[in-house]
Amino acid sequence: MDFGEVVRVKSKFLNDSVVLYGCVRHPGYVLKFSRKKDNIYHCCRCRELGKQRCIIVVNEIVVGTKNPEDDHHPDCVPVSAAIATAAAVDRDMRADVRP
Ligand SMILES: [Zn+2]
Repeated sequence: MDFGEVVRVKSKFLNDSVVLYGCVRHPGYVLKFSRKKDNIYHCCRCRELGKQRCIIVVNEIVVGTKNPEDDHHPDCVPVSAAIATAAAVDRDMRADVRP
């Protein structure tokens, strides 16, 4: 079973590989996952809130039996795709000026 594609946020300076999952239930909003190991990615916001919520990404497709939008921390809400993308760009720009 698969749940559709993710958008990889490219950064050649950071080892953490980050993907954005476009929410089906909240069009225009995304959930951000960072790579834990291999094909396993965990939700960034849930990690900050002390909850582990992992997904499996194979060939940029979310696979598994559980909807990526389910079972997040109650305070973990999707962020606007525009904001998530802008933040990623900002991070890349700041990474650029690092010596
Ligand atoms: Zn979450």
